[in-house]
Amino acid sequence: MKNDEMLERIHVILVGVTHPGNIGAAARAMKTMGLSHLRLVQPKHFPSADATARAAGADDLLANAQVFDTFEESLQDCHLIMGTSARRRRISWPTLTPKQCADKVLTCPGKVAIVFGREQSGLTNEELDLCHFLVQISSSPTFSSLNLAAAVQILAYELRCGIETHHDDLKMNREPASAEAMAQFYQHLEQTLIDIGFLDPKNPRQLKRHLHRFFNRIQLLKPEVNIFRGIFTATQEYQKSKEKS
Ligand code: SAH
Repeated sequence: MKNDEMLERIHVILVGVTHPGNIGAAARAMKTMGLSHLRLVQPKHFPSADATARAAGADDLLANAQVFDTFEESLQDCHLIMGTSARRRRISWPTLTPKQCADKVLTCPGKVAIVFGREQSGLTNEELDLCHFLVQISSSPTFSSLNLAAAVQILAYELRCGIETHHDDLKMNREPASAEAMAQFYQHLEQTLIDIGFLDPKNPRQLKRHLHRFFNRIQLLKPEVNIFRGIFTATQEYQKSKEKS
Protein backbone atom coordinates (compact mmCIF):
# COMPACT_ATOMS: atom_id res chain seq x y z
CA MET A 1 0.00 0.00 0.00
CA LYS A 2 1.26 3.51 -0.83
CA ASN A 3 1.88 6.00 2.02
CA ASP A 4 -1.04 8.18 1.18
CA GLU A 5 -3.40 5.24 0.85
CA MET A 6 -2.55 4.21 4.41
CA LEU A 7 -3.39 7.71 5.62
CA GLU A 8 -6.56 7.90 3.52
CA ARG A 9 -8.48 5.83 6.07
CA ILE A 10 -7.79 8.28 8.89
CA HIS A 11 -10.25 10.99 9.95
CA VAL A 12 -9.31 13.72 12.38
CA ILE A 13 -12.34 14.83 14.37
CA LEU A 14 -12.33 18.13 16.27
CA VAL A 15 -15.16 18.42 18.78
CA GLY A 16 -16.58 21.81 19.77
CA VAL A 17 -13.75 24.09 18.70
CA THR A 18 -14.21 27.63 20.07
CA HIS A 19 -11.42 29.49 18.24
CA PRO A 20 -11.61 29.05 14.45
CA GLY A 21 -7.88 29.81 14.20
CA ASN A 22 -7.28 26.43 15.85
CA ILE A 23 -9.20 24.68 13.07
CA GLY A 24 -6.92 26.29 10.48
CA ALA A 25 -3.79 25.46 12.46
CA ALA A 26 -4.96 21.84 12.89
CA ALA A 27 -5.56 21.59 9.11
CA ARG A 28 -2.03 22.82 8.47
CA ALA A 29 -0.61 20.33 10.99
CA MET A 30 -2.50 17.52 9.24
CA LYS A 31 -1.50 18.48 5.70
CA THR A 32 2.22 18.68 6.52
CA MET A 33 2.05 15.02 7.60
CA GLY A 34 -0.11 13.81 4.70
CA LEU A 35 -3.47 13.59 6.47
CA SER A 36 -6.42 15.04 4.56
CA HIS A 37 -9.76 14.18 6.16
CA LEU A 38 -11.06 16.68 8.69
CA ARG A 39 -14.39 16.44 10.50
CA LEU A 40 -15.83 19.11 12.77
CA VAL A 41 -18.51 18.57 15.40
CA GLN A 42 -20.41 21.73 16.36
CA PRO A 43 -17.65 24.26 15.65
CA LYS A 44 -18.49 27.67 17.14
CA HIS A 45 -17.55 29.56 13.95
CA PHE A 46 -17.04 27.81 10.63
CA PRO A 47 -16.21 28.65 7.87
CA SER A 48 -14.15 31.54 9.12
CA ALA A 49 -11.50 33.90 7.77
CA ASP A 50 -9.38 33.17 10.85
CA ALA A 51 -9.40 29.47 10.08
CA THR A 52 -8.38 30.07 6.47
CA ALA A 53 -5.58 32.44 7.48
CA ARG A 54 -4.10 29.97 9.99
CA ALA A 55 -4.39 27.09 7.51
CA ALA A 56 -1.63 28.76 5.46
CA GLY A 57 -2.29 26.84 2.25
CA ALA A 58 -4.08 23.88 3.80
CA ASP A 59 -7.41 25.50 2.96
CA ASP A 60 -8.34 22.56 0.70
CA LEU A 61 -8.77 20.54 3.92
CA LEU A 62 -11.09 23.23 5.26
CA ALA A 63 -13.09 23.30 2.01
CA ASN A 64 -13.55 19.52 2.20
CA ALA A 65 -14.18 19.40 5.96
CA GLN A 66 -17.40 17.66 6.97
CA VAL A 67 -19.46 19.33 9.69
CA PHE A 68 -21.67 17.28 12.05
CA ASP A 69 -24.29 18.16 14.66
CA THR A 70 -23.47 15.25 16.95
CA PHE A 71 -20.32 13.37 17.87
CA GLU A 72 -22.04 10.02 17.24
CA GLU A 73 -22.79 10.95 13.62
CA SER A 74 -19.19 11.92 12.99
CA LEU A 75 -18.05 8.43 14.06
CA GLN A 76 -20.62 6.36 12.26
CA ASP A 77 -18.40 4.81 9.57
CA CYS A 78 -15.29 4.40 11.80
CA HIS A 79 -14.07 1.03 13.08
CA LEU A 80 -11.40 2.23 15.47
CA ILE A 81 -11.83 5.37 17.58
CA MET A 82 -8.92 7.03 19.39
CA GLY A 83 -9.74 9.77 21.91
CA THR A 84 -7.08 12.22 23.10
CA SER A 85 -6.90 13.76 26.53
CA ALA A 86 -4.43 15.80 28.53
CA ARG A 87 -5.60 14.20 31.75
CA ARG A 88 -5.98 10.61 32.77
CA ARG A 89 -9.65 10.59 33.78
CA ARG A 90 -10.28 7.03 34.81
CA ILE A 91 -7.82 4.32 35.60
CA SER A 92 -9.80 1.78 33.61
CA TRP A 93 -9.27 3.47 30.22
CA PRO A 94 -6.64 1.77 28.11
CA THR A 95 -4.11 4.53 27.48
CA LEU A 96 -1.61 4.73 24.63
CA THR A 97 1.34 6.93 23.74
CA PRO A 98 1.12 8.72 20.36
CA LYS A 99 3.51 6.13 18.90
CA GLN A 100 1.47 3.18 20.18
CA CYS A 101 -1.60 4.92 18.75
CA ALA A 102 0.08 5.22 15.33
CA ASP A 103 1.00 1.52 15.32
CA LYS A 104 -2.59 0.50 16.06
CA VAL A 105 -4.07 2.95 13.55
CA LEU A 106 -1.73 1.90 10.74
CA THR A 107 -2.47 -1.78 11.21
CA CYS A 108 -6.26 -1.31 11.37
CA PRO A 109 -7.86 -2.34 8.07
CA GLY A 110 -10.95 -0.09 8.42
CA LYS A 111 -11.61 3.62 8.83
CA VAL A 112 -10.14 5.26 11.92
CA ALA A 113 -11.18 8.34 13.90
CA ILE A 114 -8.72 10.36 15.96
CA VAL A 115 -10.68 12.68 18.19
CA PHE A 116 -9.63 15.96 19.83
CA GLY A 117 -11.58 17.91 22.43
CA ARG A 118 -12.62 21.44 23.32
CA GLU A 119 -9.95 24.03 24.13
CA GLN A 120 -11.41 24.70 27.58
CA SER A 121 -12.72 21.37 28.75
CA GLY A 122 -11.50 18.61 26.41
CA LEU A 123 -13.80 15.65 25.71
CA THR A 124 -16.57 14.67 28.12
CA ASN A 125 -16.52 11.27 29.82
CA GLU A 126 -19.53 10.28 27.71
CA GLU A 127 -17.58 11.12 24.56
CA LEU A 128 -14.54 9.19 25.81
CA ASP A 129 -16.81 6.22 26.48
CA LEU A 130 -17.30 5.96 22.71
CA CYS A 131 -13.53 5.76 22.16
CA HIS A 132 -11.65 2.46 22.11
CA PHE A 133 -8.42 3.93 23.44
CA LEU A 134 -7.24 7.08 25.13
CA VAL A 135 -4.10 8.74 23.79
CA GLN A 136 -2.02 10.90 26.08
CA ILE A 137 0.93 13.02 25.04
CA SER A 138 3.53 13.06 27.81
CA SER A 139 3.67 16.50 29.31
CA SER A 140 4.41 18.35 32.53
CA PRO A 141 2.06 17.23 35.32
CA THR A 142 1.67 20.86 36.39
CA PHE A 143 0.94 22.21 32.88
CA SER A 144 -0.26 19.28 30.84
CA SER A 145 -2.51 20.67 28.18
CA LEU A 146 -1.11 21.48 24.74
CA ASN A 147 -2.69 23.80 22.22
CA LEU A 148 -5.20 21.81 20.16
CA ALA A 149 -3.27 22.10 16.88
CA ALA A 150 0.00 21.21 18.63
CA ALA A 151 -1.63 18.00 19.87
CA VAL A 152 -2.88 17.24 16.33
CA GLN A 153 0.66 17.83 15.03
CA ILE A 154 2.21 15.31 17.43
CA LEU A 155 -0.25 12.54 16.64
CA ALA A 156 -0.01 13.23 12.90
CA TYR A 157 3.80 13.21 13.07
CA GLU A 158 3.83 9.78 14.73
CA LEU A 159 1.54 8.47 11.97
CA ARG A 160 3.96 9.81 9.36
CA CYS A 161 6.95 8.18 11.11
CA GLY A 162 4.92 4.99 11.48
CA ILE A 163 4.26 4.58 7.76
CA GLU A 164 7.89 5.18 6.94
CA THR A 165 9.05 2.54 9.43
CA HIS A 166 6.37 0.16 8.20
CA HIS A 167 7.53 0.58 4.58
CA ASP A 168 11.22 0.15 5.42
CA ASP A 169 10.37 -2.98 7.39
CA LEU A 170 8.49 -4.47 4.46
CA LYS A 171 11.26 -3.56 1.99
CA MET A 172 14.02 -5.01 4.14
CA ASN A 173 12.13 -8.10 5.17
CA ARG A 174 12.04 -6.97 8.79
CA GLU A 175 8.72 -8.51 9.64
CA PRO A 176 8.43 -9.22 13.38
CA ALA A 177 7.77 -12.81 14.43
CA SER A 178 4.11 -13.58 15.16
CA ALA A 179 2.89 -14.42 18.66
CA GLU A 180 2.37 -18.02 17.50
CA ALA A 181 5.93 -18.29 16.18
CA MET A 182 7.23 -16.90 19.49
CA ALA A 183 5.21 -19.44 21.50
CA GLN A 184 6.80 -22.27 19.47
CA PHE A 185 10.19 -20.60 19.84
CA TYR A 186 9.90 -20.59 23.67
CA GLN A 187 8.76 -24.19 23.73
CA HIS A 188 11.72 -25.25 21.59
CA LEU A 189 14.16 -23.19 23.70
CA GLU A 190 12.84 -24.71 26.91
CA GLN A 191 13.05 -28.27 25.61
CA THR A 192 16.59 -27.70 24.37
CA LEU A 193 17.66 -26.32 27.76
CA ILE A 194 16.10 -29.35 29.47
CA ASP A 195 17.84 -31.72 27.02
CA ILE A 196 21.28 -30.27 27.76
CA GLY A 197 20.61 -30.23 31.52
CA PHE A 198 20.61 -26.44 31.88
CA LEU A 199 16.98 -26.07 32.91
CA ASP A 200 15.51 -28.11 35.74
CA PRO A 201 11.97 -28.99 34.58
CA LYS A 202 10.91 -29.16 38.24
CA ASN A 203 11.94 -25.57 38.87
CA PRO A 204 11.74 -23.63 35.59
CA ARG A 205 10.02 -20.42 36.71
CA GLN A 206 12.80 -17.87 37.29
CA LEU A 207 14.92 -18.76 34.27
CA LYS A 208 11.92 -18.85 31.97
CA ARG A 209 10.78 -15.44 33.14
CA HIS A 210 14.23 -13.94 32.54
CA LEU A 211 14.45 -15.45 29.08
CA HIS A 212 10.96 -14.24 28.13
CA ARG A 213 11.78 -10.76 29.31
CA PHE A 214 15.02 -10.76 27.35
CA PHE A 215 13.50 -11.92 24.05
CA ASN A 216 10.46 -9.66 24.44
CA ARG A 217 12.79 -6.73 24.78
CA ILE A 218 14.66 -7.70 21.61
CA GLN A 219 11.51 -8.31 19.50
CA LEU A 220 12.84 -11.01 17.19
CA LEU A 221 12.15 -10.85 13.47
CA LYS A 222 10.89 -13.81 11.45
CA PRO A 223 14.27 -14.83 9.93
CA GLU A 224 15.97 -14.48 13.33
CA VAL A 225 13.51 -16.88 14.90
CA ASN A 226 14.36 -19.37 12.17
CA ILE A 227 18.10 -19.06 12.88
CA PHE A 228 17.55 -19.70 16.59
CA ARG A 229 15.26 -22.65 15.89
CA GLY A 230 18.05 -24.10 13.73
CA ILE A 231 20.57 -23.62 16.56
CA PHE A 232 18.22 -25.34 19.03
CA THR A 233 17.76 -28.33 16.70
CA ALA A 234 21.52 -28.65 16.13
CA THR A 235 22.11 -28.45 19.90
CA GLN A 236 19.53 -31.16 20.55
CA GLU A 237 21.06 -33.40 17.89
CA TYR A 238 24.57 -32.91 19.27
CA GLN A 239 23.34 -33.79 22.76
CA LYS A 240 21.62 -36.92 21.47
CA SER A 241 24.75 -38.08 19.64
CA LYS A 242 26.85 -37.49 22.78
CA GLU A 243 24.43 -39.54 24.87
CA LYS A 244 24.64 -42.43 22.38
CA SER A 245 28.43 -42.58 22.24
N1 SAH B 1 -8.56 21.13 29.95
C1 SAH B 1 -8.66 20.30 28.79
C2 SAH B 1 -7.61 20.72 27.81
C3 SAH B 1 -8.06 20.60 26.44
S1 SAH B 1 -6.79 20.97 25.33
C4 SAH B 1 -8.45 18.83 29.19
O1 SAH B 1 -7.97 18.62 30.27
O2 SAH B 1 -8.74 17.92 28.46
C5 SAH B 1 -7.66 20.62 23.84
C6 SAH B 1 -7.44 19.25 23.27
O3 SAH B 1 -6.09 19.10 22.86
C7 SAH B 1 -7.72 18.10 24.22
O4 SAH B 1 -9.07 17.79 24.32
C8 SAH B 1 -6.95 17.00 23.51
O5 SAH B 1 -7.70 16.56 22.39
C9 SAH B 1 -5.72 17.74 23.01
N2 SAH B 1 -4.61 17.69 23.99
C10 SAH B 1 -4.05 18.71 24.65
N3 SAH B 1 -3.06 18.29 25.45
C11 SAH B 1 -2.98 16.95 25.29
C12 SAH B 1 -2.14 15.92 25.84
N4 SAH B 1 -1.19 16.17 26.72
N5 SAH B 1 -2.36 14.65 25.42
C13 SAH B 1 -3.31 14.36 24.53
N6 SAH B 1 -4.14 15.28 23.99
C14 SAH B 1 -3.97 16.56 24.35
